[in-house]
Amino acid sequence: MTQILVTNSEGRPGVGKTAEMLAAGHGGLDAIEAGIRLVEADTSIRTVGRGGWPNLLGEVELDAAIIDGNTFRSGAVGALKGYLHPISIARAVLERLPHEMLVGEGAARFAHETGAQTADNLIPDSERVWRQWFEEKVSPDDQRKWPNVPLAELCQQAIDPEKGMDTTVFLSLDGRKEIMAGVSTSGWAWKYPGRLGDSPIIGAGCFADSEHGAAACTGAGEMAIRAGTSRAIVLYMKMGLSLEAAVDEAIADLRRLKGGLIQRITLHAIDRDGRHRVVAVNAEEQLTYWLWQEGEAEPHAEPAEIIAL
Ligand code: ASP
Repeated sequence: MTQILVTNSEGRPGVGKTAEMLAAGHGGLDAIEAGIRLVEADTSIRTVGRGGWPNLLGEVELDAAIIDGNTFRSGAVGALKGYLHPISIARAVLERLPHEMLVGEGAARFAHETGAQTADNLIPDSERVWRQWFEEKVSPDDQRKWPNVPLAELCQQAIDPEKGMDTTVFLSLDGRKEIMAGVSTSGWAWKYPGRLGDSPIIGAGCFADSEHGAAACTGAGEMAIRAGTSRAIVLYMKMGLSLEAAVDEAIADLRRLKGGLIQRITLHAIDRDGRHRVVAVNAEEQLTYWLWQEGEAEPHAEPAEIIAL
């Protein structure tokens, strides 16, 4: 048994497609991109792509990244507005630019240049929930001056309406024994405009190395950024630790974080032998992930391990 695909519960709309493509001999990058596109377009997944929660200003800003574990070429977009498939724009960054990451207006400009499909990503239900928050939490004076008001305090009080729901992350070891990773997200709901989470930051939200393994994080992205968690897991494997021990070591790094946003963070990892581990650190509820291994007709759901910091 060699091939493996790990994706989190949000990967549901795309996991079948990615598994099918891997089983048919497609490379991991193509299979991951195809699966993530289905998640991005599915408005029932409220934390990825169209239907994702907006920032404090009620705008949907999307982040995505994809990395080739053979070459370490990556492509990432951050705070992208108005496009349906950030993962494909990230893939185009990887393939067409001498850069690894584009954000904001530059990312949208490049998306336009590639002919990417535009979309109104704020669905009516997200707008309704955002408006309710606005009316309840923003003072009448600030409502009148909106959006020319300080947001820092509002950002401290923002409550994620979809606690426990995440970025989608896909990790694969394909039939060529190549390891790839891709992630896509609307980021933290009610985030400060322009806030990037871990997802578009290679090494924080995802990393892949065909010689050792891959990792991706969901949940409190600020923690993964501070501890360089995805890169750390793969590097610990490179330095000789088992997959199990590498994830434990990354959790030990997270324990050392003091201050800032400390909440739930879920670590997903695979190694080059097709082993995997998914740990929900600080989870208050049971989380599941999807697993497909070579020879299996279909992906199936598994419970994540839960560890407290
Ligand atoms: N990690 C994502 C971020 O911080 C959010 C999530 O996965 O829930 O943007």
